[in-house]
Amino acid sequence: MKTTLKIAITIAVTILLMAISFEVITRLSTYHDERVTMNVLILSVIGAIGLLTVVATLHESRHQKKVEEYMELIEKENKHPLALFRYCPVCGSSKFVAKQENAKICENCGFNYYINPSAAVAAFIVNNEGELLVGRRAHDPAKGTLDLPGGFVALEETGEEAVKREIKEELNLTVTKAEMIFTIPNRYRWSGMTIPTLDLFYQCEVENLEELKPLDDVVETFFIKLDYIHPEDFGLASIREAVSLYQEGKMILTS
Ligand SMILES: [Zn+2]
Repeated sequence: MKTTLKIAITIAVTILLMAISFEVITRLSTYHDERVTMNVLILSVIGAIGLLTVVATLHESRHQKKVEEYMELIEKENKHPLALFRYCPVCGSSKFVAKQENAKICENCGFNYYINPSAAVAAFIVNNEGELLVGRRAHDPAKGTLDLPGGFVALEETGEEAVKREIKEELNLTVTKAEMIFTIPNRYRWSGMTIPTLDLFYQCEVENLEELKPLDDVVETFFIKLDYIHPEDFGLASIREAVSLYQEGKMILTS
């Protein structure tokens, strides 16, 4: 059910229950004072439960909203993350249909296929002056915008191994310490497909910054004071959000 609909129903039911209680209070008030007190209590409890339900619904709404977006994409079939998978990879049937936001099922042989987030890493590297290392993207998506160094986690690799490898490949730097500070889900358009990702953000220390040499994926790199950074200059949504969090010092340690 849509989050807004859930909130609307909760508010409506709360108001209805409160109105009924109010009516009962009004009817009883002329005869039994002690029952009025009881009904005021009931009214307060109903109101509190209603309020708590709305708060709980709003709390889950970020994740729920994202799932709803995927469900809408299913309806516009060509944008579902599995839209390119038209035929069942087991039996070849064309009755390979969307089951939920991240899955398709074959109506012929029953095969289920799920698409879950691909892990990706990005690094915050800061020099002795407290400036952040950023790069300018050489390729699409978001070619020409600012970016943090990083990339996809390879098969059988840990996040720490991935961030060390990517920093070596992209910048010729050797990571000596990598500590994950937070994670943000994202969608990455590649090869005509929307790939859901879970981006893992690491605070990294490197051996010798003088070895910095942009090698791959970036046209230039530079250091920038945190105060001078405009998150909107970063083209990828999760990187933009991460830079903004980092700038505000909102680092949430996950362990
Ligand atoms: Zn099949």
